[in-house]
Amino acid sequence: MDLNSIKRKELVQILNKQGIKDKKVLQAIFKVKRENFVSDEFKSRAYDNNALPIAGNQTISQPYTVAFMTELLNIQPGEKILEIGTGSGYQAAVLCELGAKVYSVERVSELATKTGKLLKSLGYDVEILNGDGSKGWIEFAPYNKIIVTAGSPQIPKSLLNQLKDGGLMVIPVGDQFIQKMTLIKKISENNEVKYKQKKFDEYKFVPLIGTEGWS
Ligand code: SAM
Repeated sequence: MDLNSIKRKELVQILNKQGIKDKKVLQAIFKVKRENFVSDEFKSRAYDNNALPIAGNQTISQPYTVAFMTELLNIQPGEKILEIGTGSGYQAAVLCELGAKVYSVERVSELATKTGKLLKSLGYDVEILNGDGSKGWIEFAPYNKIIVTAGSPQIPKSLLNQLKDGGLMVIPVGDQFIQKMTLIKKISENNEVKYKQKKFDEYKFVPLIGTEGWS
C-alpha cells in the first residue's frame, strides 16, 4: 500500500469514529484520491480532515463534511444528483463512486473549466455548467437528490421545484458566518406538495452567491 492509500485508510477510520457509519460512503471516500483535487502546495495535506484552499479563492470541503452530507442523501446507484458548487470536483467524484449520475453547477468559470477537465481525466463522468446554481439547472430537472456545497441565507425555491417527489436536498442555511446543515424531503400528499425539514450541526461554508443566495 502506498503512503496516500495508508493516509486514506486512516482518514476513513477517523470519519467512522466521528459518526459516519454508511459503509458505502466510507468506501467511496477510500476510493477517491483527494490529492488529485488540490494543488501541489497542498498535496502533502490532502488527507488532513480539513477544508483546503483551491483556485478562485474557494475551498475543497473538509472530508467529514463531504462524508456527512453524502450520508444524509442516502445515494443509490443510477440516481440523478444536482450539485451546486463544483469547486475542486472532490464531492462530485465521491458521488460518482456511489454510482450517481452527477450534474454540477459552478459560478467561477476558471473552476468550472479546470475541474471539468480534471474529472474527465480521472474517468469521472460529470456534467458541468458554469453559472448561478442558486437557480438550479432546469435542463436536466427533476433530480432525485440535490446537494448545495455553499452557505445560503435561505432555501432557494428553484432548487425545491427541481427536486423529484420523494427527493432529498441537503443545504447549509444561515448567515455569512455560520450555517446549519439542513435536510429537506419533498413529499406530495393529496395533490399538495410539502417539505419536511431536519436541522443538524453548524458549519462554515463559503457563500452561495447568486439570485437566490447572497447578492
Ligand atoms: N463541492 C466542492 C468540492 O468538493 O471541492 C466544494 C465547493 S466550495 C466549499 C463551494 C463552491 O460553491 C465554490 O467553488 C464556489 O465558487 C461555488 N459557488 C458559490 N456560489 C455559487 C452559485 N450561485 N452557483 C454555483 N456555484 C457557486
